[in-house]
Amino acid sequence: MSKPQTHAFQTEISQLLDLMINSLYSQKEIFLRELISNSSDAIDKRRFEALTDASLLSDDEELAVTITTDKDANTLTISDNGIGMSHDEIIENIGTIARSGTKKFMEALKSNQDDKNDVSLIGQFGVGFYSVFMVADKVTLVTRRAGNKQAYQWESDGKGEFTLGETERNDAGTSITLHLREDETEYLENFRLKHIINKYSEHISLPIKMLGSVPLDDEGNPKEGEEAEFETINTGTALWARSKSEISDEEYQSFYQSLSYDMEPPLSTLHHKVEGNLEYTSLLFIPKKAPFDLWNRENRKGVKLYVRRIFITDDAESLMPNYLRFIKGVVDSADLPLNVSREILQSDRDIGKIKARAVKRVLDELNRIAKDDNSAYQDFWKEFGQVIKEGVVEDMANKDKITPLLRFASTESDEQTVSIDDYIERMQEDQDAIYYITGENHKAAKGSPHLEMFSKKGIEVLLLSDPVDEWLVNSLHEVNEKPLKSVTKGDLDLSDEEKKEQEEQKEALSSVTDKLKEVLSDSVKDVRLTNRLTESPACLVADETDPGANMERIMKAMGQDAPATKPILELNPDHALIKQLDEGSDSFSDWAQVLFDQAALSEGAQLKDPANYVKLVNKLLIN
Ligand code: ADP
Repeated sequence: MSKPQTHAFQTEISQLLDLMINSLYSQKEIFLRELISNSSDAIDKRRFEALTDASLLSDDEELAVTITTDKDANTLTISDNGIGMSHDEIIENIGTIARSGTKKFMEALKSNQDDKNDVSLIGQFGVGFYSVFMVADKVTLVTRRAGNKQAYQWESDGKGEFTLGETERNDAGTSITLHLREDETEYLENFRLKHIINKYSEHISLPIKMLGSVPLDDEGNPKEGEEAEFETINTGTALWARSKSEISDEEYQSFYQSLSYDMEPPLSTLHHKVEGNLEYTSLLFIPKKAPFDLWNRENRKGVKLYVRRIFITDDAESLMPNYLRFIKGVVDSADLPLNVSREILQSDRDIGKIKARAVKRVLDELNRIAKDDNSAYQDFWKEFGQVIKEGVVEDMANKDKITPLLRFASTESDEQTVSIDDYIERMQEDQDAIYYITGENHKAAKGSPHLEMFSKKGIEVLLLSDPVDEWLVNSLHEVNEKPLKSVTKGDLDLSDEEKKEQEEQKEALSSVTDKLKEVLSDSVKDVRLTNRLTESPACLVADETDPGANMERIMKAMGQDAPATKPILELNPDHALIKQLDEGSDSFSDWAQVLFDQAALSEGAQLKDPANYVKLVNKLLIN
């Protein structure tokens, strides 16, 4: 056997361990939950791999987590006969490569030092294993990958380095031995361990075993020849398989917590047993709070799929669309073939049906909450609104169920509280479109000169400033036969009277507009008069078919090529500045440039040449 090698912890992990060892004093007990949860995952993986390679698991092997203590040596050992780890997997999983959540976890801890809940969140960040160093000053991990002969030992005191070398282990699986710190010997007591397991890991659907006490004789001494036996200390049945009426709220909540690491109870719990051609159970939770990794698309673990209690995958997308990635839960099917591969799942028809029904359940429930409990729904929207908006783009089939869930800010409300129904109800009698404006942020949208005429006429405009909104309006097109219309695009509907007046003004100002078009030909597509404005002299609009300035800004920020489109410059014929424009004057081209730059500025754009703008304005002020 070769000599163990010494490795340095990756810097971030070293910092994390330092925090674990020196700064965390409360709820240290959760290390046990983390280890049991890792063991349970490892056993799930072994069962799954054995579906396609039977040699990985013999029929008579009972898969379980075993907990033993040694009071003389001051050690606590958690063993499992799960999938185990190869040499490379150890390197990949512990010590050498920091998970994406490592840094976030440390930031969360630092920013919220007195919130004790943070420690219990450890699991959410994928750093659970390291929590052992809260209670141990040395940790020894022995593991053998199922299918491999060679076992490995990893050992560390959590201070900068670990060793990794070959060792022996009879069977596949992993054992983790904690050499407990002097003041942490409570974790050698069976009753203490049982208490923690009941609190955090009761729902684990695997046996968790501990040595019971030796039978005693009449005088209270261990009976001769008798030895303590392993006892299973949890119920070990899957919660979702039990009948609804037997499950308490606390049990649901604790199961939810084990899936989400969310300390708050869920907003809704949806538990259904479906019978008939396709039999399955689904237990879904809608959370109240968004997880820290809501926007990390690679890290999606939402709904777990089981086939007859055997874990198959937690690849969220097979059971929930992307925009519902925050939904937690399990689906357990009796009818799917056990040997389904994760790839086949994506195209399996039955899975497709289960997914469609699960999505419908969630959307129906959200619609119910939106109707019955506005304040709870508003809280939900603050957390998840941006993600729900993706649904309009992603899931056209459910457009009718998603649209009523949407909430927007508008010229009537700075918060996102306005539903499309609210808007339609407040529409003016002759108004035939739902008007919106998109902007880089709420303030820019709200301050846009394009709103001037709408506000004068008392027409409500939705103010959209989330990046996803541009896609949303492109997909939504219309609601209840009312088209969505950008206030910055295309022409405005005018009454006959207004049209006549505009024609006259057009005549009168035609030489000015023609000259402006000539002078600004590099920057604008066209120059025309507008009745959009009441206070500003000019504004920029996109042609009906062009993407618009905000969309172009977003595409550039995403590193994509935005098609080079020029805006249209619209002039307010009633504004004093426009009235005094004289196409024959020497300063005309300066005025033209200033008008154009102002119009760009007022919609939140950056000027190409700000210094030139300042120079021109100063020049005109002096004249
Ligand atoms: P997480 O479990 O959230 O991924 P951890 O820090 O708890 O984060 O564990 C890191 C990784 O180490 C796990 O993802 C898993 O691949 C591996 N691992 C931990 N414990 C075991 C175990 N008992 N058996 C097999 N692999 C394990």
